Formats: sequence, structure tokens, C-alpha cells
Amino acid sequence: MKSFFETSVEFLKGVGPQRALLLQKELRIFTFGDLIQHYPFRYEDRTSFYHVNEVREDMPFIQIRGTITRFETIGTQYKKRLVGHFTDGTGSLELVWFQGINWVLQKIKPGVPCVIFGKPARYGKAFSVAHPEVETEATAQDKHGGLRAVYPLTEKLRGRHLDSKFISRLQQEILRAAKPHIRETLPANLIRQFSFPAKYEALVQVHFPERQDVLALAQQRLKFEELFYLQLRLLKMKLVRYEKFKGQEFKDTAILTEFYNHHLPFQLTDAQKRVIREIYNDMKSGRQMNRLLQGDVGSGKTIVAFICMLLVIGGKAQAALMAPTEILAQQHYKNLKKYTDATGLSIAILTGSTKKSIRKTLHEDLLSGKINILIGTHALLEEEVKFNKLGLAIIDEQHRFGVAQRSKLWQKNDSIYPHVLVMTATPIPRTLAMTMYGDLDISAIDEMPKGRKPIRTTHQFDSHRLQVNAFLRSQIDAGRQVYIVYPLIEESEKLDLKHLMDGYESISRAFPDLAISILHGQMKTEAKEYEMNRFIKGETKIMVATTVIEVGVDVPNASVMVIESAERFGLSQLHQLRGRVGRGAEQSYCILLTSFKLSTEARLRMNTLVRTNNGFEIAETDLELRGHGDLMGTQQSGLIDLLIADLGKDGKILQQAREAAGTLLKEDPDLKKTENLPIKAHLQALRKTTVNWAKIS
Ligand code: ADP
Ligand code: MG
Repeated sequence: MKSFFETSVEFLKGVGPQRALLLQKELRIFTFGDLIQHYPFRYEDRTSFYHVNEVREDMPFIQIRGTITRFETIGTQYKKRLVGHFTDGTGSLELVWFQGINWVLQKIKPGVPCVIFGKPARYGKAFSVAHPEVETEATAQDKHGGLRAVYPLTEKLRGRHLDSKFISRLQQEILRAAKPHIRETLPANLIRQFSFPAKYEALVQVHFPERQDVLALAQQRLKFEELFYLQLRLLKMKLVRYEKFKGQEFKDTAILTEFYNHHLPFQLTDAQKRVIREIYNDMKSGRQMNRLLQGDVGSGKTIVAFICMLLVIGGKAQAALMAPTEILAQQHYKNLKKYTDATGLSIAILTGSTKKSIRKTLHEDLLSGKINILIGTHALLEEEVKFNKLGLAIIDEQHRFGVAQRSKLWQKNDSIYPHVLVMTATPIPRTLAMTMYGDLDISAIDEMPKGRKPIRTTHQFDSHRLQVNAFLRSQIDAGRQVYIVYPLIEESEKLDLKHLMDGYESISRAFPDLAISILHGQMKTEAKEYEMNRFIKGETKIMVATTVIEVGVDVPNASVMVIESAERFGLSQLHQLRGRVGRGAEQSYCILLTSFKLSTEARLRMNTLVRTNNGFEIAETDLELRGHGDLMGTQQSGLIDLLIADLGKDGKILQQAREAAGTLLKEDPDLKKTENLPIKAHLQALRKTTVNWAKIS
């Protein structure tokens, strides 16, 4: 039987089949439940009234009492517009409608006192308001309070007069009808602890707030609830896995110690040592490890991964490392091969371009256990790739992989899951990590290897290109190499590619005596390899590239990163790109080139990068600027589907919700106690409605 909340909106008074279709298509509102949870995204303060002579251009909204003296229609056909002359005794302004003219003329009569509300615009000396809201004083007065909800809408809905006022009317209707059906969904002790309003009260206040402070508390409650259930699910999953999934035990450290004492090319940082200990503790525990390893670019995650692999190989099992791109896989392979050669272990690489004949032997050697370590791309996930005994699966640069792929790797061992280590160089703000990876344990390398000089970052306008070139020349003369990166964004691929080619040409002209490499995603794998290798060997001094070089490529001699049209990149991506330099002993530089005209936000991004090298700080700012929906990877993971909470802003509530969920599960892991039964029921109801959830469970 369908519950009240699953009823189609079609059956709500004032909706009907046609509007229901619009609500579905435009706002994805299908049911009563969807409608109630269609929350306002802001509120307009209707407590203040202005006079016409006080109106300024920069006011976001004005609300004025007065009368429309007369209407006139100007122009014909599409250019037709309706102008209402409005006055309040201190002056007059024009109200303008381009659409729905007949409707306005029917509803609003000249000479009747009214309240107008809208955004003022200036034309010469006069002000006008396009498509204002107009209410006669009689209707305006019965509205309680001065805060009015503004709902997310689309152009199409507005075009049919389905505006915020319309949604408000539906909310009024639905809240009245829903009252007997709404149950409390938070435990009583939490409601007491945070002085939250009851569920019904919170819903009413969020749609029809009485006062700012009451609204704030109602919003907090709903956000808390949303995050509480999210965390409850994640922690529950972790708990189930913790109890159910046995892990392979790896305790034999002989090979590891041999490598550590005789072949380690440098001293590990304290952070690296700590993380290795954390992983070792997992791997000997008899439980399956699921750990996220965060570490800024260049913090040295690879060696940590390798040392953990040695522990697994010591236990007669195999290790796999999956990278998001072919170039990265190759690079890992080359780096690790130096170590495996020194220790007499066998390593292989498998990517999309691995030849058939090689594949065949590779598959055999993998199955027989002859290969100790397999590096690769997505190709590792193919059906035919079977291990003798996979002990550890490492995923590098996780944000490029969906959560579904993560779980596919697990299944490479039938009897007992391998340990899983997810490595990411995009530091993820804590709040986001707790949600995206809330089912994982988290380790962080929060310290750079000694002797690194912080990268010096500057922001320059395009007009300084000559000076920039002169600087590049001086660096190259001193023996260094340079990256020049161009944006390449799918939607404008052709144009971007042209910019890249133009850039390549002008660089070639500016440095006629130098060999220059070019690298972009459209090139064949061999061609990419060839160019990359020339650059790695130092045969070419300048690498002109798109963001294909974004992750992982390691050329210590490259000391300058120039980013063209830097305003088109997000903060985290810029930071990631910058991380390609600063890997050697020399002072490194990052030059952000932008046009002179910049949006406030773009300017803030540039300033942030110039100010700090700290990836975590940058990630936090990125999250605040863009909101979590836009951050790379969060959408494809389908994990974060929040209706009211915002991870960029609600970090504190998230923390409280996670703690509360943790405490609850500690006391009652299966939610069996009578007082927790409603919570269990709600959790199950949520699971049913959230399709995405299936992907990870
Ligand atoms: P990332 O964390 O970005 O993957 P890498 O593992 O590629 O970083 O390491 C970056 C560079 O730093 C590599 O050249 C690596 O050999 C070097 N490195 C790693 N750890 C240390 C250390 N403790 N001391 C000195 N150099 C190190
Ligand atoms: Mg790396």
C-alpha cells in the first residue's frame, strides 16, 4: 500500500494532471513527500517598505505601497509590453510586463491601493520594475510574518505563473493534509539536547517562517536530521563490514624490512611512518581494511603504497594498483619497477593498449601467482583479469572512479575480499570526506618531505606575457623545464584545442631554438608516451599541454607551471596542476595567467592560490565557493544527494550528526530497542526511496 507521502502530487488540491506533469518535469516533484521537501532556497524580508524616492539601483528588492494610476500597452506582437504607471506620492516608477499581459489586466485594477515587490532597474533617470509582484492591501495583510519563502523554479514554470506564491499555496495545502501523517523522526533525547522543534513544527516554519530565529532553528533541525540519517547509514555499513567481512592477515614483515633497511632511497617523513603503521594495524587485524589515504600532491603516497604491497607479498599474496589514466599507470610502473628490481619482485602493467599476445601471458602469470604486483588502468576490472590471491587493491586518485568501481575491485577475490586502500591527492575537506567516504577509515599524510621549497605563485594578466616569456627563458637557461597548461573543457573542445595549438605556435615562435613538446587527450597513446618521455628525459624544455598532465606525472626538473586562462579552472584543479612542479630541490614557480576582467569569484580563487600552498585549506575554500554538488566526483559517486544541508556551510551540524549517529549505534547497533524502532523504520523507508544507495551497498 502506498503511504500518504508516496501519493502523486496530481491529487493535491490546486494541482491536477497538467501541473503535476510540469512539477515532475521541471522540479522532479513526483509525490507529496517530494513536495514537502521542496525547500525554499532563500527568504525575502517583507518587513521593510520603501518610498519611490528612496529607490536605488543597487537594491536587490523593493517593496512599496502605492497605486497604479493607469496601464498602457506599447509596441506590437513580440515587442509588445504592458507598462503600469505606479506612484506613492513621493515619486513614480514604471512596472513592466512582457508576458501574461491579459492576465495582469484582468487581475489588477488601476486606482486600487496595492503593494508592489520586485527588483528595481534604472533607465535614464527613471526606475522600472519588470514583472513585479502586485498585491492589493487586502490580500497582503492576511500573510503572517515578514519572511517569505522563495523556491527553486524554472523559466518554464514562471512563464505559466507557477511562481513561489503558487508553491507556497501548495505547501499550505499539503502541510494541512499531512499533519496527521507526520511522525517524529529524531530520538527524543536529541531533540531535547539541541532544543529542536518537533518535525511538523520544523516543516511549517521552514515553509512559513514566523521569525528569523525560529526559522534558523527549524532549518538546523532538518539539516541535522538529513545528515544524521546519512551518517547512520554510512556508519552502519562500516559496522556491518567490520563484523561480517573477514580480512586476510598479513604479519610477515621480512621483505618489507629488507627493503626498508637496504633500498629505501630517502628517509620517510613522520607522517608517512604513521600512515604505514595505521595500515599495518588494519592488515594484521583479521578484518578487511577500507581506508582512504589523503595526502597533498608530492607528499609521497606512492612509497607508502609500495611498502604496504611488500607486506602483502610477504604474506604470499598479490597487490594491484589502479590509476585513472594510462600515463599515470605508466609512471607508477616505472617508479615502482626501480624498487621491485632492487628487491627481486615481479611487476607488470595492464592498460587498454596492452597487446593481446602480452595479455595472454600476463593473465596466466597473474593466475599462477608469478606476478607480485599489477599496475594498470580500468583494464584491471575486466572479467578475464584473475588473480591467484589478491591481498591488496590500491586505487590512486579516487575521485576519478565511481564508488561502484571501487566495489568491483573487491570482488576480484571470491572467498575473502582484498584490503582496499584509496589514495587521493585532492585533499577533501573533512566534511566532504566524512560523507563521500564516510564508510572508510581515513589516514592523512599532512607533512611534506624535508627540503622542499614552497612553490612561489603569482597571478599575472595576459598583457604581461612578454615578461613571463623572459622569465621562462631565464629558468630554461638555468637548466630547468617548463609546463604551459591550457584548459580543455568538453563543451568547447574544438575551440579549446585551437587555443592550445595557437599557444603552441606562439611559444614555438618565442623560443625558436628550443624543442617543445605538446600533449593533449586527442593524441594517440604512443604519441603521448613519446612526447612525455622526451620531456622526462629533458630533450624538450617546454611542455605545452592540456590538463591531461593534471595528475601524478613526476618530472623533478620541471620548475615552472604556467596556467593559461587560469580563471577557467576550479581551485582544486589549479592546486593539483601546480603540484606538478616543486618536486625537485630547486625553487619552483607557478604563474596564473588570466584576462584583466575577472569575476569576484575568479579573483578570490587566484588570491587563494597566491596566498597558500596548503591543499586542505584550498579544498575548504573550494567547497565554500562552489558547494559540494559541483566538486569533482561527488556527482558521479551519487552518494551525496542532500535536500537541505550544504556540506560547505553545515560542517558543524554534520559533525554533531555524525557523533550522534555513532553514539546511537554504539548503544544499539541493530536499532532493536523499542525507542529506536521508529528510527529503524525511517532508515528503511529512506533506503527504499534512495535509488543511488543501492550502488554502494
Ligand atoms: P604523491 O603523494 O603526489 O603521489 P609521490 O609519491 O609521487 O607523491 O612523491 C613525490 C616525490 O617525492 C617522488 O619523487 C618521491 O620519490 C619523493 N618522496 C616521497 N617521499 C619522500 C621522502 N620521505 N623524502 C624525500 N622524497 C620523498
Ligand atoms: Mg601520486
